[in-house]
Amino acid sequence: MTVLDHALAPLVDTLAVPTDLLVGGSWRPATGARRLEVADPATGTVLASVADADVEDARHALDAAAAAAPGWAATSPRERSEVLLRLFEAVREHSEELALLICRENGKALGDARGEVAYAAEFFRWYAEEAVRLRGHLGHAPSGANRILVGYQPVGVSVLVTPWNFPAAMATRKLAPALAAGCTVVLKPAAETPLTALAVAALAEEAGVPPGVVNVLTTSQPGPVVGALLADRRTRMLSFTGSTEVGRVLLRAAADNVLKCGMELGGNAPFVVLDDADVTDALDGAMVAKMRNGGQACTAANRFYVHTDVHDEFVAGLATRMGALRVGPGADPSTGCGPLINAAAVAKVDGLVQDALRRGARALVGGSAPDGPGSFYPPTVLVDVPHDAALLREEVFGPVAPVVRFDDVEDVLTHVNDTEHGLVGYLYTGDLARGLRLAERFESGMVGLNRGLVSDPAAPFGGTKQSGLGREGGTEGLLEFLETQYVATSW
Ligand code: NAP
Ligand code: MG
Repeated sequence: MTVLDHALAPLVDTLAVPTDLLVGGSWRPATGARRLEVADPATGTVLASVADADVEDARHALDAAAAAAPGWAATSPRERSEVLLRLFEAVREHSEELALLICRENGKALGDARGEVAYAAEFFRWYAEEAVRLRGHLGHAPSGANRILVGYQPVGVSVLVTPWNFPAAMATRKLAPALAAGCTVVLKPAAETPLTALAVAALAEEAGVPPGVVNVLTTSQPGPVVGALLADRRTRMLSFTGSTEVGRVLLRAAADNVLKCGMELGGNAPFVVLDDADVTDALDGAMVAKMRNGGQACTAANRFYVHTDVHDEFVAGLATRMGALRVGPGADPSTGCGPLINAAAVAKVDGLVQDALRRGARALVGGSAPDGPGSFYPPTVLVDVPHDAALLREEVFGPVAPVVRFDDVEDVLTHVNDTEHGLVGYLYTGDLARGLRLAERFESGMVGLNRGLVSDPAAPFGGTKQSGLGREGGTEGLLEFLETQYVATSW
């Protein structure tokens, strides 16, 4: 077996977390017999090792996905729906073990991990329901010459690439609609957090997903392995969640085979508090929008614009709440803010904070990285942040809230939209009509209007501009894994 610390070993046993590659319904070591270590970001200790796939394994996984594709596409929607419902139940049944597993390999606080598992499970239920509700349509050609009969077919073998920040939910948000649509997949989870995806894949097998329908490759060489998957003529779709930088590389690679692409990329969410907002509500929302997952979310509020009338009350409240969060290992129930994913993340976040401080910002709480062990960063509130500070332009991906004071709404809207990202924005106001008018002017795929959380399996999640292409969740998420076919006929 693999190296496991004491706390994780029983978990891995009850959940039966496999640590090999899943190819064609069997768990097997990497062809080159290499292993990849998974570390606990709270301590830096090694939790487990998983198989480290290379391009030959990628080919085997595609062989399996391609072989299983016709059979899975031919199953009835009801059959796929029932498999997904069993998978929903299986994830729910093991939710506490999965949450602890996420805490250990990702670091997030237990409450966040429990929330993630509940969210992750719901994608299976939602797409179990959507699988049997898909409808085409029938129309008349305007000329009257023929009928237009529109239906859908599974896009085919899909490559799913996911990040470390939501190790369960980012996988299920792709797996569930792909399976509902009748596609087979090769999933490549992030190297930092492969265990959760392997655990979910094992539950999928238990739920009756046939061999070859879900294949999982863990690897330390994402470039060559994903590259081999995308270069293969049998692949039809790429669904990627991760940074805009890697997304661009993969879009270029996907161009050679003209793959259908779903891209969920980085964000830079503004959080705007207007003069008429309820400050307590805004603070509740701010804590969720900023601190879910310790700030390591693509939807994380990245920059706060607060009207001068409520600014002082808001920042005082935010500093109190942020300062009260206990920093510690995610699995400790008293922890409010777990570690960042690794030491590089701490260095990046601290670099952005120090840049803002040099440019004249002031830290009300936090503001510097503690010594190790573990990759911790304290919840930080910065005020008087100038518009040229790097952390207003770049994704912070940590527990840092930079606040900018404003008095002109038109001016703040310019700042809101002055970014290449367009994933989500947040807006707090006591006047809903005013809020709706302003929300329509946000150049983002999603707006939280008097809400600090937008993620919902039933809603289309996704971004505009360089935050991505396509949507996940809702009905839209299923259409991503389908091709439209129209038949011209007359009778
Ligand atoms: P990342 O570095 O882009 O990695 C994402 C995935 O791509 C990982 O599985 C990674 O593997 C793989 N990858 C890295 N380089 C690759 C390459 N050259 N070719 C093929 N695959 C490659 O992102 P991350 O650091 O894991 O996640 C954080 C980012 O994800 C943030 O920008 C965040 O905003 C974004 N995100 C977006 C959403 C959304 O829905 N829009 C949701 C969550 C996160 P390795 O693990 O081996 O590097
Ligand atoms: Mg790790």
